[in-house]
Amino acid sequence: GKPVCECNGCYTGHDCSELIPDCIADADSGNPTFLEPFWRKNAASSATMVAGWHRMGYEFEDGSLTSKELEKQIRKLHATAGNAITDGKYIVFGGGSTQLLSAAVNALSSKVSSSPTKVVASVPYYPVYKSQTELFKSMNFNFSGDTMSWKRSSNSSMNFIEFVTSPNNPDGQLKTAILRGPNAKQIHDLAYYWPHYTSIPSPIDEDLMIFTLSKLTGHAGSRLGWAVIKDENVYDRMVNYIDLNTYGIARETQLRASKLLNVVLQGDGRNFFDFGYETMKLRWQKLRKILSASSKRFSIQELKPHYCTFSSEIRSPAPAFAWIKCNEEEEKDCHAVLRAAKILGRRGRVFGANSSYVRLSLVNSKDEFNLLMHRLEMLVFEEATNS
Ligand code: PMP
Repeated sequence: GKPVCECNGCYTGHDCSELIPDCIADADSGNPTFLEPFWRKNAASSATMVAGWHRMGYEFEDGSLTSKELEKQIRKLHATAGNAITDGKYIVFGGGSTQLLSAAVNALSSKVSSSPTKVVASVPYYPVYKSQTELFKSMNFNFSGDTMSWKRSSNSSMNFIEFVTSPNNPDGQLKTAILRGPNAKQIHDLAYYWPHYTSIPSPIDEDLMIFTLSKLTGHAGSRLGWAVIKDENVYDRMVNYIDLNTYGIARETQLRASKLLNVVLQGDGRNFFDFGYETMKLRWQKLRKILSASSKRFSIQELKPHYCTFSSEIRSPAPAFAWIKCNEEEEKDCHAVLRAAKILGRRGRVFGANSSYVRLSLVNSKDEFNLLMHRLEMLVFEEATNS
């Protein structure tokens, strides 16, 4: 039989079908392995092979650090999904979108102002915006907390960089910029603005938009992100950052991404995005059904359906994360409540929210998701029998 060590997380036995009794359902990390079955079905056409002697040099044949073929595919993909306008804009690659977040802050910050540019994000926000900006803080910029607390100052002479995450991590809401003053610039993090997670009401046409292969195809370990940039000067500053920081993105990564996008683009993206959305839709149906049995103890974010131009229908959002709220007074520490029921989520505090919130990842493998649903069902059942 198969050795035990090859089973995933909470499973054991010769065919990995036995659940380890007290095993914790890990819904902490947003590792997007839900797409793995699609890539198993398309294993041969999506495979990359690189011989030892091949592609050893720093640059591509044309002397550049970016694959023109991959750039073309990315533009085509945005046109196909209808999620972003890339015409007349520049594209720069990064080591995941993580590297581009910092490159963008660097490029948008003022070099001439007497006080540092304020970097802000709306609560609840993806925690890396804060931790990364704090790590790299300089004379030019620093992290200044929740966007809302600066709303009234946005028309002043202060310089702002606002992170706008749509759909938002952790709560899946579609977002637009809050600070609109003359000195406010935005970084639109569109990691989840793809048809698996949301309806696509219209293509986004902003000055600086960031995407990642991680949440698009699920290949988080390849570490590829890209920024779509309107302004040449901002583009130059971001390229300069990447040049000095890592001197470009691994050619293996670019080659692999190109292979993957080739498969994604087949049949106008229908096969791929339908698989993604159907999987996420079914997961949300299951989650909603389980939580509907909870009278008041737990609730999840409300999500509004919108018309989706990609699917030509009105679609309910099916975001990557459930943003759970524990409702009762005595359950202020929602993370602990879930943890006692053998569910590991990420604390609301991490996202700048209070401890009655917890984020649960819904993008893991099928086994991990099913175990999470099983544990949630037990927890809700316990509430029903106690009341
Ligand atoms: N932005 C958001 C909103 C994310 O959720 C993530 C990953 N969790 C990232 C950026 C970074 O992803 P990566 O570096 O893998 O592209």
